[in-house]
Amino acid sequence: MNCDDSRIYLPAYLDDELDVAESLRVQKHLAECADCQRAQDEQLALRSALRDPDLRARPSAEFSERIAALVRRAAKEEARSQRSVWFESLRPRAFRWVPAMAALLIVTTVGAYLATNSLRSSHQQLVAGAVLAGHIRSLQANHLVDVPSSDRHTVKPWFQGKLDFSPPVPDLSELGWTLIGGRLDYVDARPVAVLVYQRRMHDINVFIWPNHSSADFAIRQEDAQGYQILHWNGAAMTYWVVSDLNRAELLELARALRGH
Ligand SMILES: [Zn+2]
Repeated sequence: MNCDDSRIYLPAYLDDELDVAESLRVQKHLAECADCQRAQDEQLALRSALRDPDLRARPSAEFSERIAALVRRAAKEEARSQRSVWFESLRPRAFRWVPAMAALLIVTTVGAYLATNSLRSSHQQLVAGAVLAGHIRSLQANHLVDVPSSDRHTVKPWFQGKLDFSPPVPDLSELGWTLIGGRLDYVDARPVAVLVYQRRMHDINVFIWPNHSSADFAIRQEDAQGYQILHWNGAAMTYWVVSDLNRAELLELARALRGH
């Protein structure tokens, strides 16, 4: 079993949903692989954090009353339409619960929205797909950087004249992030700056372009095809970070970049 397989099986493994043979294969890989062990620790930590009762969104009294009123009104309309239909007896009883179920669905959906911090909007999903494709392309085509340099004073001016904005190029070497260069890419229907950092042989693509929506400093995360995608909107720039490095370390990088 390789790391990709292990990451796919990991949630099922932790939920005890695998058969003995699969479970043993995951266990064997975890015993040998520090990265996947870390992924396991993170998932376990996340699980216990999500059990924190403080995380539950409690609807306001006003919101609950509004839902209750909707249910009452729907139930009344349901009863009225049932009286008017002569084959009432053929109607399955379960249908009377539909309005209540719909209300419950609204409540759980709102709860789930409050509890997660992932990339929600379809536009964000599209951009996430584009930056992931850009990341993979840059590795496959051996075209990681257009300007190979660890010196921010070389990389930052290189973008001048190629873009209509000047991306911040922070030196994060003291925090263990080696700048290896910059590249132009094309995402979300515009040319964008890409800074490439490295840590322990993992390449990290940082996509940057001007942010025209309101600032939202919350870091959103998603994992796709074995890669981590992190995103936030700074006051001036929007950021997308993609790598196969583990999420915990990428969060460190995101926080460091956000501070610049
Ligand atoms: Zn592994």
